[in-house]
Amino acid sequence: MDRPHLRDIPVTRLAAELESRGFEKAAPRAHQLGIAIHRDGARSFDELPRLEFGREFRRKLEESFELTPRIVESQIRRASDAHTTKWLVRLAGGDAVEFVMIKHWDDHTLCVSSQAGCAMGCTFCATGTMGLRRNLAAGEITEAIVHAERETGKRITDVVFMGMGEPLHNYDSVMTACVNMNERGGHGISRRRITISTVGLPHAIRRMTSERRIWRMHVSLHSAVQETRERIIPVAKLYQLPDLLDAVREHQAAMKVKWVTLQYVALPGVNMDEAHVEALGRELNGIKYILNVIPWNDTGTGGFRAPTWDEVRAFTGRLRSLNCPVKVRYSAGKREGMGCGQLAAETRSVVPSGHMIAPPGIFSA
Ligand code: SAH
Ligand code: SF4
Repeated sequence: MDRPHLRDIPVTRLAAELESRGFEKAAPRAHQLGIAIHRDGARSFDELPRLEFGREFRRKLEESFELTPRIVESQIRRASDAHTTKWLVRLAGGDAVEFVMIKHWDDHTLCVSSQAGCAMGCTFCATGTMGLRRNLAAGEITEAIVHAERETGKRITDVVFMGMGEPLHNYDSVMTACVNMNERGGHGISRRRITISTVGLPHAIRRMTSERRIWRMHVSLHSAVQETRERIIPVAKLYQLPDLLDAVREHQAAMKVKWVTLQYVALPGVNMDEAHVEALGRELNGIKYILNVIPWNDTGTGGFRAPTWDEVRAFTGRLRSLNCPVKVRYSAGKREGMGCGQLAAETRSVVPSGHMIAPPGIFSA
């Protein structure tokens, strides 16, 4: 039998996995084990508490499963705002990814990556210009939590999938990661504090709805005009806006979501003029939403320009006059290159020569 990595197994299936490998008292053992590796962050068999897990049990575990750290190198950066910390890590196998922790009062939000790179190709996003290297395994995603908690001594209270990659393009691993973040026998993070941000893949949104996946979902709309969306999000050519918006409506109704967050990267000369304001007022009928406007962080890609605050104010003011609920999102750590799409240079520097350059992550508070 192969040796699956313990962190890749949904904690809800751990008991069955133990049982099928001949372990006794599988259910209570699985619960203890889930807590030890997720909430308490044991990164190897040696780090399992000896009082709870006797020598014989650990030996048998080691025969049946893997529990090695996949983060093999790590660099940490702290922003001068004292609220933002970024890790640039190399995973076993050589790919580099980043994650960012943002402190807000007593809460600590971890912005995680779901893929090394991204296949969606958004032209305003540095990750999108570089292609997909590979999907992360569920345990690689959640090891970021263990790593951040160890290095800072803080508990992660919230997780957002706003780092590298399109989470719904790595559906199974992301859903397993969410289960393990959420379960009491895992990290025990409230389901309301786990957020998946998606570029908007209607079939995957519908799958989330039919499987009753209870995590929060943010949809990166960026324009309510199909042509503009296609221009900045190449994958939007495959998915027409009405279909995407229907999938969002269905999700909202079935999951009883009060407000759906729609994200909107503000790109002057592209998606902020009167026609785009009107399209938002027109196309979003039937959806109860909040439009989260993210002023574009300059990543040097796509020939775009960052908006001025006056431009952002004019845009949001116009939307409010049409009764569109709008919020502006400040990208934490932006000055030190920790905001959305700004991590290219550092990611490149840890990629061994001969590899394709790993894409930068995109992070925001
Ligand atoms: N792939 C997912 C999640 C990661 S991106 C998605 O696209 O939703 C998280 C958010 O950052 C998305 O809304 C994305 O559009 C935005 N983003 C990407 N690059 C950005 C940039 N350069 N400036 C501001 N926001 C950016
Ligand atoms: Fe991928 Fe999201 Fe960047 Fe688009 S914005 S390329 S979907 S990570």
